[in-house]
Parts: sequence; structure tokens; C-alpha cells
Amino acid sequence: MPRAVSKRSEKGLEKKPWKLLLWTAVAGLIFGLIGAGEYFEDMLRVARNSFHEHDASGQVVVIKVDDQSLRQYGNWPWPRRMQGQLVDRLTAAGTKQIVYDINFSFPSNPADDRVFAQAIERSGRVTLLTRSRLGPNDGKRIDSLPLPMFARHAQLGVSSVEYNWENAVWRLPYAATIHGQTVPSFAAAMAGAKGSPGSNFFLDYSLKLQSIPAYSAGDILSGKVGAKELAGKRVIIGVASELLGDGYFIPGYGRSYGVYVHAYGAETLVEGRPVDLGWFPGFLLGLIAVAIALLRRRSIEALVAMSAATAALVVAPAFTEAHLIFADVTPGLFVLLVVASVLGWRKYRARGWVNSISNLPNLNALRAHQEGRSQALVAARILNYEEIVATLPSDGERQLVEQIVSRLKVGSPNRVLYQGDAGIFAWFEAPQQPFGNHLEALHALFRNPARVAGLSIDLTISFGVEVGSGRSIANRLASALVAADEAAHDGLKWKYHDPETLETASWRLSMLSQLDEAIDRGEVWVAYQPKLELGSKRIIGAEALARWTHPEKGPIAASEFVAAAEQHNRIGKLTDFVLEQAVGAAAAINKRGVEFEIAVNLSARLLTDKGFTLRLAAMLARHSLPARHLTLELTETAALTNSGEGLEMIARIRDLGVNIAIDDYGTGLSTLDYLKKIPANEIKIDQSFVKGIADNRSDRLMVQSTIGLAHSLGRKVVAEGVEHRDILELLIEMECDIAQGFAIGRPMSLDSLTKRLASDRKRSAA
Ligand code: C2E
Ligand code: MG
Ligand code: MG
Repeated sequence: MPRAVSKRSEKGLEKKPWKLLLWTAVAGLIFGLIGAGEYFEDMLRVARNSFHEHDASGQVVVIKVDDQSLRQYGNWPWPRRMQGQLVDRLTAAGTKQIVYDINFSFPSNPADDRVFAQAIERSGRVTLLTRSRLGPNDGKRIDSLPLPMFARHAQLGVSSVEYNWENAVWRLPYAATIHGQTVPSFAAAMAGAKGSPGSNFFLDYSLKLQSIPAYSAGDILSGKVGAKELAGKRVIIGVASELLGDGYFIPGYGRSYGVYVHAYGAETLVEGRPVDLGWFPGFLLGLIAVAIALLRRRSIEALVAMSAATAALVVAPAFTEAHLIFADVTPGLFVLLVVASVLGWRKYRARGWVNSISNLPNLNALRAHQEGRSQALVAARILNYEEIVATLPSDGERQLVEQIVSRLKVGSPNRVLYQGDAGIFAWFEAPQQPFGNHLEALHALFRNPARVAGLSIDLTISFGVEVGSGRSIANRLASALVAADEAAHDGLKWKYHDPETLETASWRLSMLSQLDEAIDRGEVWVAYQPKLELGSKRIIGAEALARWTHPEKGPIAASEFVAAAEQHNRIGKLTDFVLEQAVGAAAAINKRGVEFEIAVNLSARLLTDKGFTLRLAAMLARHSLPARHLTLELTETAALTNSGEGLEMIARIRDLGVNIAIDDYGTGLSTLDYLKKIPANEIKIDQSFVKGIADNRSDRLMVQSTIGLAHSLGRKVVAEGVEHRDILELLIEMECDIAQGFAIGRPMSLDSLTKRLASDRKRSAA
């Protein structure tokens, strides 16, 4: 099974890889060009910043015209004479640079303006705001410059910023051209960094906001803050009150003011010169990873390449950004996400909804088909499907299914067929349809053998119909299948599901009392499951398994009624019945000159039945079957090792010449001591271990060591529950003697077994 699954998923990967790659690349380019990932990109940056959060240099100080200053010195705008006082105070405190993030492009009271102009001249270290903006209507640039009387003795700095949807500024310009003159941005001016107009840089928001020193303008004017805090610093003055606007969003912190944005810019440039790689390198990385995933054949490589690229895109910038190297990653993540979703979706489809052999929708799809609720449901079962498939060459199953499907579509080419495992097909029909004629015609089509790889194959099919009962589709499907099985058992071509059989109340209780009568009425029959000798590749025998087809309940699993019968000491009659049938069948086959051995399950409880050996000997004599052709399979034999009685009985059975097998080996006690004590000829390893040998190391060890141990004691090993060919191959490698399971053949009627033996012989003779 695991092997089949991985093959399927790899098929999913190969489907038109170039086309998907090309579309993904185009979509990713568009995504990158329009910046579609901006929101997510910002969130990622903020998250990464928290990994290398650190303090600012402290060289840049913010002076805030805040609510406190307004309470102290009156409403805004303050008379310019006060700005003059502020400049004087800051100059006296020994600041290195005084930057005004405040617009002085219009005149006010001439006397005040004069005082301010004189203070600027006295200070000689003032930088004033200028900006260049697109006009609201005509798209022309409007430059605003400070009044010439202020500008004469001041430097100029550009305050323009570009903000995004959340009013955050991620990049600042180095400079701008104003009236033909190159003017540095506030940030560049404060950090002394050079850069051409139009070029910009990334802000380092991993600096802690609280680590940028900030004082209220009122406290400067009142002399509370002075040289101690300000000497040698570059200060930037700006409004910081909700009343005055200029609000900006500081990523990772929240609402703040434009003056802080410039302070961040200056601090960033003090740290170094940021490099912005843009979105293309990340996009390229994502694209390379998806190209590997799509063009290589193995799904593990796809997984590794895409996970590695995703991890790199998410984590790597956290390290580079600590060194001021910035990159956008969402276009890269976008292409990875697109391809991962497409591959995942294909895999999901391949696993969940489509039969991998025929590409028909499977039974999961049928169960999910809501429109089917009001329609009739027809189920068809190819009764000997597994048997046939087990004998076909590797591509044979697909060819076989094609032929089955084309027959089922005769007369209704647009019919949507659903295919399950093990030869099950189903479809919906209009509910009022007279089904009889149609299904009989279909049945007749299956009388002609199918031809696959030069082999002529007889197909046995039966149909079950559920006309619609308002139950879930899953339940209705199960009922239709039961009806199909009943039809097969009753020798009919098709059968309606009878809703009355649904009542299951007290069924289990009445089951036991019905079993004896059921045997008399002929409802109990024996199925034969072939056993394959791995050395000679020959069917050398079969296990007889009890089957009860209840007239109302349909087929009942042996595991269900056998256990119940055992617990209530009612197993005797059933065992006698099965033995009689099985021994008779084996005798008949052997008489035709085919060496054939039959295995019958024997409940350990019967080992206390003194008369059993006598009855057994008589039965063998009556059918004249040599005792060596019969094997009795015992489970729960562990309990026997302590009871002399049971062991004695086994010894007597061996004396008759009948073989003993230990069934379900491995599920109970399985010590060397135990193996030696039970004089068995054969050990049947329980299916739970056999199923695991392809991908479970401890199961493989268990099976391998049991084979070695059994061989050293001169016993044969049978592997039960072999469902897949790859398991069969492994068992051959492990030198197991005999295999039994669905891969070789399901339990079948005596008729089917006889046919199977004949066709096997023909093939080996050919
Ligand atoms: P068991 O003797 O171990 O028989 C093998 C069981 O495994 C059978 O189930 C068979 O149908 C199933 N089987 C065979 N190959 C495969 C496979 O490849 N995959 C899977 N999943 N299953 C496989 P069944 O017929 O339901 O019988 C269950 C148990 O009931 C038997 O286990 C046996 O212990 C008991 N039993 C059956 N018939 C009789 C009987 O006549 N007398 C007694 N005393 N016990 C019986
Ligand atoms: Mg058995
Ligand atoms: Mg078993």
C-alpha cells in the first residue's frame, strides 16, 4: 500500500510541470510589481524587528510641541518671537543642530518675524523645513520654502515623506530638488549622509522608540531642560499633539508623529547605509524552489526544496536586517504558496476522490454526491476481481477496468461510473426506472470473457439496487452491495435491497440460536482461500472458512459468529459441518490427480472433546482422503501448554497423520519454549505482522526471525493476509514457504476454486 500511494502522488507532481511553473512565475511577477503583499510584508517586518530590537545612538533628540507645551504657552501657532526664544535656549544649551519640522513659508506679525530671524542668525545652526508637493488639481509641483528672511542664515532640509495605507513611512529620501537646488532630507542632514535626489533608504524600526530622547518644548522654554541633556546633540522640533495633526504610524509601536519618523531616519543613517534588495531576490529563490519541486520527480525533494525556501524567506531577513540589508519576501512566499496549494490539491484529489487505476471518481466521491440522494443507486460487484487481478501482468488491471467500464456504459454512454476497490462499481439512476431488463442485458454482456494481455478472463458480476430511502448515500451504498452479494449467492443476476432487513434489534442474541438451524437450512457454506507455495509458485491447497449468508441480514463475517459460538460451546456442529465439506472437497480434487491439501480451523475448546479424534478418523476414511492432506489450524494454543490434556489430544491427531498449524502466530505467547512444545508442522504468522513488513522495521524483524526459528525446528511458515504484490516479493526474499491473502485470492466458492486450479495448471503447463 505505501508504495502505491507514493507512486500516485508522484504522478500528481509530473502533471504539466512547465505550464504550472510559467503561470506561477507570471502571477508572482505581477504580485511583486503591484506590491500585493504589502500588508503581510509589513507584518513580517514588524515580527522580525522584535528579534533584533536595540537602542538608538541618542545623538538625535526630539523636541515636541505637545499638549503640555500648549497648556503652558498658549495655543498654536505660537508667536514667532517664542520660536526665537526657543532657538536661543537650544543654542545656549550647546546643541549641534536645530532642525525645524515646522512650516515657516508664510509671514506673521513683522516684529515677531524679525525677532525669530535674528535668533536664527545668532544661532547659525538652524535647518528649516522645505518641501515639494504635487498640487491637488493640476499635478504641478508646489515647492514651499521658508521666508527669505529666515532662510538667509539657515540650512534647508526636506520634510517630504511617502506614507502607506496605515500612515506608516517605510522609506525616506536622501534628498530632493527644490527650485533647481539639491536639498538633503532632514534625516540625511542630521546624519550628514549624502545621496542623490530620488534615491531613498529603508528605516530601521528595530530601534526602540523609547530610546530616542524626547523633551517637551515647554520644558525647554521654561529652562527645565538644558545643557546637561542637549549639549552636542542634534535636535528636531515638531508638533506632537493630536490637536495639531502630523500623526504617523510607527510600525511595531502605534500612533506617533512625523518628527519621530525623521528621528528614526536620522538614527538609521547614523547606524550605516541601508541596502534595499527589493523583492526580486526572494521571488527568484521561491521560483527556483518551485522549479525544483515541479521538475524533479520525487515528492520528498519537492517537500525539502519548498520548505527550505520558505524557511529561508521567513527567517533570513531577520539576520540581514540586523545589518541594515532589507528585502521583501512576500512575492517569493506567494509563488511557494501557490505551488504548494496546487500540489496539495492534486494530491488530495488523487488520494481522496479518484480511483488511481481508472481515474474514475471513487466511492468517496459517490458518497459526497448530494444530487444522488433523490436517485436510485446501483452497485455492481465483479465477484472474482481480486483473484483475476492477482494473476495479471502489471498494466493488466487498468486494461481490465477499461473493458469493464465500457461494458457498464453500453446503452448509456454518459453514465458517471464510480469505482471502488476490489471490483466494485456504482452509479445513480432515475428512481422510477424498470431496472430488470437493463441489468439483465448488462449481465449478459459479461458472459463474454474479457481479453487482457492475450489472456481470456471470465468475469462474474452481480448487481444490487437501492431505490432510495432517504438514508445517507454511504448507508445506501452498503445496502446495494449487500444486495449484490445476495444476488450472487442466490444465483440471481441482480437484486433489490430490501429495506425491511434493516432492523437489527436483538440480532446478535438471536444469532446463536439461529446458527444450528442455519446449518440445517443450508445457509452456512464453506469458502476456500487458496494457499500459494512460494518456491514453486503453485496453489498447493486452501483454507476452509465458514460463511453464513443470512436470508435477511446478508453475509455475516466468520469472525462475528465463530467467536460467539465458541464462547457458548456451540462450535461443535459448525466444525463438523466445515470439516465434512472441506474434507469432501479436498478428496474430490485429489482424486483428479492434483496434490491438494486442505486446512480447517479448529477451536481450541474442541480439544477437550474426547470423541473428536474418532470422528475425524472416520471422516477421513469415509472420503478416503489421506490424512497428510489435512491440516488443522489452532489458535489460542498458549493455554494448552499447561494442560496435559490438550497436548495429548494434539499428539493423537498427529498420530493419525493429520498436520497441525499454529494460527495467528505472534498475537499471543510466542516463545521458543512454546514453539517446541506444540508439535505443529506449520506456523501461520498473523496478518497484522505481515501487513507491516514493507514499512515497519520491527514487523520485518519479527517475520524474518520467526521464519528462521521455524525452519531450524523443521517447520513450515505460512504468511497470512498478503494483500499486495510487494509484500509477496519481500516474503519470497525472506524465504517464507507459503503465502495466503487477497493478493493470491479471496475466500471463494468451491466452484471458483476448482476453476482457478484448472486455469493455473493450464498456465504452468503452457
Ligand atoms: P483465520 O483462520 O486467521 O483466517 C483468516 C482470516 O483472514 C479470514 O477471515 C480471511 O477471510 C481473512 N483474510 C485472508 N486473507 C486476507 C487478506 O489478505 N487481508 C485481510 N484483511 N484478511 C484476509 P474470516 O473468514 O472472517 O475468518 C476469521 C476467523 O474466524 C478465522 O481466522 C478463524 O479463526 C475463524 N474461523 C473461520 N472459519 C472457521 C471455522 O470453520 N471454524 C472455526 N473454529 N473458526 C473459523
Ligand atoms: Mg485459520
Ligand atoms: Mg489467522
